[in-house]
Amino acid sequence: MSALLEVVLNPKNIKEFVGQRDVLENLKIFIQAAKKRKESLDHILFHGPPGLGKTTLAHIVSNELGVNISVTSGSVLDKPGDLAGLLIHLNLNDVLFIDEIHRLSPIVEEYLYSAMENYKIDIIIDSGSNNARSVQIDLSPFTLIGATTRSGLLTAPMRSRFGINFRLTYYQKELLKKIVDRSAKILKIPITEEASYEIANRSRGTPRVANFLLRRIRDFAQIKGNGTIDIKICNLGLQSLNVDQHGLDEMDNRILLYIIDHFKGGPVGINTIATAVSENSDTIEEVYEPFLIQEGYLVRTPRGRKATMLAYEHLKRKIQKK
Ligand code: ADP
Repeated sequence: MSALLEVVLNPKNIKEFVGQRDVLENLKIFIQAAKKRKESLDHILFHGPPGLGKTTLAHIVSNELGVNISVTSGSVLDKPGDLAGLLIHLNLNDVLFIDEIHRLSPIVEEYLYSAMENYKIDIIIDSGSNNARSVQIDLSPFTLIGATTRSGLLTAPMRSRFGINFRLTYYQKELLKKIVDRSAKILKIPITEEASYEIANRSRGTPRVANFLLRRIRDFAQIKGNGTIDIKICNLGLQSLNVDQHGLDEMDNRILLYIIDHFKGGPVGINTIATAVSENSDTIEEVYEPFLIQEGYLVRTPRGRKATMLAYEHLKRKIQKK
């Protein structure tokens, strides 16, 4: 989806954010308390699969606090100096959002610790000259919001520095339908009830996927139909996009088929699967596997991934003898 459209569709405050009620109820209290005390909000970690609203929530927190947000990612911050540049420019109680925080290099991570704990950092002045020296700088109190799809990869010291820790979970179909209806309204796309439920049903429990499908199916409605997304156009679009009746996409099905057809259902190691389906093993672990596990198509065992009976039924394969 174009970045611009994502921005248009992003909920801007807690009220507009659909679902994750437990997270929001707690967040509301923590935000109110911090505002009342005129203190910075404690550091927050959001974890969970991609597209569930971690980045959106970080922006909502800064909006609700009435402060600015600086956005970066663990994969681009490779030197402590890059981080120092961001930290120094934060104003009182601002939010610093680090996406993919599990990708921070150990040296940058270590540098972040003292910023998070004491709002102090050391910077080197005149580096490279004979006069090089380290100076400690006081930062304005700030809130670090970290997001990760792989909380298991976060180091224990990093994790322990977050006072607030929220796990986002896949969305129920009814909530996804609300998101589809909301996005259709914002984008002025006419859509029938049946069609919006169908999109919700096939969105892998993920708002980003729901918004993506809505936009793509709108193209089908405009070119192959009369502009309205009805169930016929919706099914045509979903079929063309290779999304099956259970919301599994081509890659989901390729992963399951590989395990069933080449390993009699597994167990198979993640790297073997990744090579076979030509996908990065991180992506399989972060994007595909959590959904397949949650929906009961795949299980993780100490010896690798196994396809379940449900996967065999779904792909119309017979269980083979080993
Ligand atoms: P993440 O950071 O977890 O990968 P994002 O915050 O980028 O996910 O959300 C992906 C997209 O889904 C955004 O366009 C956002 O507008 C939409 N979205 C996410 N959560 C919600 C929600 N609860 N309600 C409405 N839209 C949502």
